[in-house]
Amino acid sequence: MPRFEIDLKPLQHITVDAIGKPGQRVFYLQGWREADPKPVTVIIEKIQLQALAEGVDQLFAKLDHQKPEQTIPDVKIDPEKMRISPPVDPLFRAGELGLGYDAETSLIVVLAREVLMEGDDPQQAAEVRFWCSSAQLRCLADWGRQVIERGRPLCPLCGQPMDPEGHFCPKKNGHKH
Ligand SMILES: [Zn+2]
Repeated sequence: MPRFEIDLKPLQHITVDAIGKPGQRVFYLQGWREADPKPVTVIIEKIQLQALAEGVDQLFAKLDHQKPEQTIPDVKIDPEKMRISPPVDPLFRAGELGLGYDAETSLIVVLAREVLMEGDDPQQAAEVRFWCSSAQLRCLADWGRQVIERGRPLCPLCGQPMDPEGHFCPKKNGHKH
């Protein structure tokens, strides 16, 4: 049995944010259940967020193909609403983030499973499931990309975000600097 399982269903709001200095930021996934003022928060890795955003794109592309009648809404992101503020009180660090689609409710579940220490029983990993509407998920993925970008310094020449090892700058004909 997992240590605990939480289903946020219905889910009022879901977001991600990063707190800390560039390069040392900690990423959080946070959701609110309807009519519950206390959010549920887990720590995630930047690479998990990146993979989640890509997974969302793939899922929507697949759904668009299979169920063209169910359109993915255009969303407008309000950064004020998406930002989380400390103190955050994470339940665990996620070792795994998954995505699943429930055809009956048309909800998409974002599943966070607790990271395991050596010697832990894999059956005991706690789980949080955020049951998202398409609009909530679209918002989450688009905002997640912005959060990832935010941590990178901007190139003084072209204004695009740079990776720590430099980037291929269009102002320098694609040379790294
Ligand atoms: Zn540049």
